[in-house]
Amino acid sequence: MARQQHRRGNNNRKGNNNNRSRNTNTNFTPKKERVEVKEITYNGPLSVGELAEKLNRNASEVIKLLFMMGTMVTINSTLDDETIELVCMEWNVDVHKEIIIEESDFEEQMEEAEDEALLENRPPVVTIMGHVDHGKTTLLDTIRKTHVTEGEFGGITQHIGAYQVNVKGKRVTFLDTPGHEAFTAMRARGAKVTDLVIIVVAADDGVMPQTKEAVDHAKAAGVPVIVAVNKIDKAGANRERIVSEMSELGLMPEEWGGDTIYADISAKFGTGVSDLLETILVVSEVYNFRANPNKLATGTVIEAKLDKGRGPVTTLLVQGGTLHTGDAVVVGTAFGKVRKMTDDHGREIKKALPSTPVEIIGLNDVPIAGDIFKAFDHEKKARQIAETRLNNKIASERNATGAAMSLDDLARQIEEGEVQEVNLIIKADVQGSAEAVRASMEKIDVQGVRVNVIRSQAGAITESDILLASASHAVIYGFNVRPNALVRKKAEEEGIEIRLHNIIYKALEEMENAMKGMLAPVYEEVVIGQAEVRQIYKVSKVGTIAGCMVTDGCLRKECGVRLIREGVVIYTGKLGSLKRFQNDAKEVTSGYECGLTIENFNDIKVDDVIEAYEDQQVEPE
Ligand code: GDP
Repeated sequence: MARQQHRRGNNNRKGNNNNRSRNTNTNFTPKKERVEVKEITYNGPLSVGELAEKLNRNASEVIKLLFMMGTMVTINSTLDDETIELVCMEWNVDVHKEIIIEESDFEEQMEEAEDEALLENRPPVVTIMGHVDHGKTTLLDTIRKTHVTEGEFGGITQHIGAYQVNVKGKRVTFLDTPGHEAFTAMRARGAKVTDLVIIVVAADDGVMPQTKEAVDHAKAAGVPVIVAVNKIDKAGANRERIVSEMSELGLMPEEWGGDTIYADISAKFGTGVSDLLETILVVSEVYNFRANPNKLATGTVIEAKLDKGRGPVTTLLVQGGTLHTGDAVVVGTAFGKVRKMTDDHGREIKKALPSTPVEIIGLNDVPIAGDIFKAFDHEKKARQIAETRLNNKIASERNATGAAMSLDDLARQIEEGEVQEVNLIIKADVQGSAEAVRASMEKIDVQGVRVNVIRSQAGAITESDILLASASHAVIYGFNVRPNALVRKKAEEEGIEIRLHNIIYKALEEMENAMKGMLAPVYEEVVIGQAEVRQIYKVSKVGTIAGCMVTDGCLRKECGVRLIREGVVIYTGKLGSLKRFQNDAKEVTSGYECGLTIENFNDIKVDDVIEAYEDQQVEPE
């Protein structure tokens, strides 16, 4: 009650007393002597705490001031420029924002014009779009099968999300991700990877909604279009109808006075496909796609996944410069050295020129399709830049999910009863599971409580997840992925809950119960320790014995274990045996070596991590 009156009092003062807070008896009055700040300069997002420090005030004063203005924030909330200005205005402080163009903003640099003299021709990068069932996949397959370069044995290219074919001695790159999602997702992330779009229309079906969408996307991206009239082998094929319907969408053929090229094909039987490829070359010559190959590489992520054995595996399209094995790269917020680079035939290569798709390993995290990459001279620099980018990302995510909430919202919530929002971070071994969990979690409907997924990604649970969770009061859900000991400690320090599952419906059930306020597990799985595999001994009859160092907590003979490789759970089971030297041990604690086997499991490798857990009874609250 008292607080409400207070608020009203302050509101009344608003607007008629510019010098308000100094000597009036309000909570703003500084209790201690302070040096008054007249001017501040900042260059990035500021949290409430950071702004308070610059203003030489307590964070609580800033929080109170913003509360009066109708915004609820916490000490960790990030403030936008406008709010920073408002706060400063209230206290008569001049504020200046420094704009610093950092090396870490390499998306901006990609747009920079290059010196014409340094540019050389490069293969066009082509995307195939069109309505479902009109033949996109068939066309991609036919091109792949029939135009693999001579001498490239095996012929069958592996699926890395893009491939190159040889047309009359010239290369053409195809993005092997049909569908508009990939194209739009990349464009939405600011990536420009496609030079040319082929819109496939089935001659027996006509222009359909996704055909129109494809035309819109291509137009919005400002790239040339070739219309492939497909399925001309079919009895019901009606080419004229397609041409007239596509002309209505602004794609008039040359014979009607327009400038759109049409190609009649049968993707299934290969008819006209070679002509289509030659047409791509003709269009490419007109547009003259070029890049400078003699510089450090830049480009875009086409696909990325976490592989159980190899760690993050990323398909990159090199767009400028040349990428070499051993180069240090920053990809989105991940970084690393290109340890191994393979082409679309699975062959190891040492360098990749502009327009070449390559699969690389060596990154420390899984990036997202559409992320931009850049190579750097030194690994140290790459690491620094990746860290800067990660911090910027965390700051902006914190901003987006910040605790800011207007008083109106608050009032409405109170009226509705204890309304809460559960923020979640979802990490899984593959992007598909992360998305599936996200979709199901967001559908959970328990009155008044909303699930808000603030990050769902493929990859191990990392420190950045803990930081984001901490900044936005989120719970972390892991599917088939585990945090390492360091991350687990950090989570404990920050008071972040990590729930680990490998069955989606169990996680959903748990979440739903939690939201109903019914989560009172009798038993809870508690991780009691971790060990690293240092050596492997294969012994016939016994199987694989792992020589380990217990790095955290302890391992007990009866405990459950998980085998983790590169952050991914490979196997869950029980210990077969636990020994210190030759003797059976009941328990081996941190800092000691031990030998162990896992029941019914022998695929243990050096550097694997063994996580030990026990079911422990939890006192109901
Ligand atoms: P997408 O959904 O656009 O990728 O279409 P698909 O490539 O999966 O093709 C859908 C169906 O059309 C499949 O059954 C193909 O075999 C068939 N199809 C594709 N191209 C042709 C073609 O040129 N002629 C005929 N007769 N069938 C085709």
